[in-house]
Amino acid sequence: MRTALSGLSVARPRTLAQALKLMQGDAGGTRPTPLAGGTDLLVYLNAGTHPGQAFIDLWGLREIEGVRVGARGVTLGALTTFTTIREHAALRRRFPALTAAAAEVGARQIQNRATVAGNIANASPAGDSLPALMALDAIIRVRSLRGERDIPMGALYRGYRDLALSPDELITAVGVPFAPPRSVQFFRKVGTRRAQSISKVVMAGVLRLGRDGRVDHVRMAWGSVAPVTMLAGRAEEALLGARPSRATAAAAREALMRDIAPIDDIRSDRGYRLAVAGNVLEQFLRTADARFARD
Ligand SMILES: Cc1cc2nc3c(=O)[nH]c(=O)nc-3n(C[C@H](O)[C@H](O)[C@H](O)COP(=O)(O)OP(=O)(O)OC[C@H]3O[C@@H](n4cnc5c(N)ncnc54)[C@H](O)[C@@H]3O)c2cc1C
Repeated sequence: MRTALSGLSVARPRTLAQALKLMQGDAGGTRPTPLAGGTDLLVYLNAGTHPGQAFIDLWGLREIEGVRVGARGVTLGALTTFTTIREHAALRRRFPALTAAAAEVGARQIQNRATVAGNIANASPAGDSLPALMALDAIIRVRSLRGERDIPMGALYRGYRDLALSPDELITAVGVPFAPPRSVQFFRKVGTRRAQSISKVVMAGVLRLGRDGRVDHVRMAWGSVAPVTMLAGRAEEALLGARPSRATAAAAREALMRDIAPIDDIRSDRGYRLAVAGNVLEQFLRTADARFARD
């Protein structure tokens, strides 16, 4: 049954400090839910699946918006939308995997409202920006009245939709370090159709060949193949130190099958996801190989 919207309360703090105070909850123990672009939350409210009645509208908080480019990487304010990410010149140049992911989040209307922190906090294993952020070793900055801390993206998800975030903490920013020089970035989403579908398999990778022609840096992050977005540690190990070859690709593919644990659900089945994940891995390696041969 649909949630009756009229019964809901929305606080509009003007500063981050006010928002963090509200995140403490009231004397009765009720804690409001942060609301950013609303593209996930309003779907849940419409479906009647979100239990909360009180919300904090973060949209007006200037302190947690904007993109800052530094010497070692960029900082994305929590409210950075996917439109901003896909259109930002420096991000397009330095983080092609992330801007490619941003361009795949729903349609333009969704990208105008959907925020990077909302995608992260929603914690869907199919979230499109999550593999890109994870492969790029992003750091999630969170804050409460107790202080600020950084959580590496690879340690954020403890289980299905279970984040290493305390109930009073807000995500304020996402730090993305520049990928190693000369590395190749890759992003691939496989859905039912080319655009506007939820992924059956989504993957982002970063790979570099050292001067000796062997892989000296590799990250591969996967979505929709496990309860959480995850790095494929065994497959990365199979590639590290190896020269690109058919045998290397086969070994990495075999290792990947032991990393991931896809399920059958309404969007796809386990067998299809395993086969597609293996093909995507090989496409990543071919793409990287071609780029290194060219450059
Ligand atoms: C039609 C449609 C198509 C979509 N297509 C895609 C798609 O292709 N790929 C994809 O990945 N997603 C897709 N989505 C999902 C959604 O757009 C994204 O997950 C989006 O990034 C959510 O961001 P938001 O700002 O709208 O979050 P909201 O809906 O405002 O919030 C989502 C969750 O994050 C929490 N939250 C928000 N900001 C913070 C913060 N700063 N700190 C702590 N918690 C916070 C909220 O409390 C809530 O639990 C789609 C949604 C719709 C409606």
